[in-house]
Amino acid sequence: MSAETFFCEYCGYNSTSRERCTHCGRDIENLFDQPAGFRVPLAGKLTLRLHDPADAALAWKDAADVWKHEEETQPDWGIPRQLEHFRTAAPTVEVYGMDYMVSALQKALGERGTVSFEAIAHEDWPFRRPKYQLPRPPTVPRARR
Ligand SMILES: [Zn+2]
Repeated sequence: MSAETFFCEYCGYNSTSRERCTHCGRDIENLFDQPAGFRVPLAGKLTLRLHDPADAALAWKDAADVWKHEEETQPDWGIPRQLEHFRTAAPTVEVYGMDYMVSALQKALGERGTVSFEAIAHEDWPFRRPKYQLPRPPTVPRARR
């Protein structure tokens, strides 16, 4: 056996197991499915769960800051904004996005909760992703003299 280690994106330490981080215990197998740099982001549902619902106000505010940034840097998503999902006292929040957002959201929650991801194709999201529409051609004045 080699002494190969695997970097855990969740806790920032190296793990000696490819499946489960030997430092924080998280399932990290999916981090290594694709060679680095060649990963195609997966669309799907992100579920954020708090250990203690009493943390909701502050934890969701922190997560919303991260989410807002994602929405602002992805203006061409063509999906409804989901920022309002974080305005809740519930211990669980579900949003639809890309898998690479998991680590940023997990970082925002820190020890307060967990973020899980379930791959769901865009077509199967609960709201339709509007088809891309070509911009209307500019209206040309008919009689220009
Ligand atoms: Zn870890």
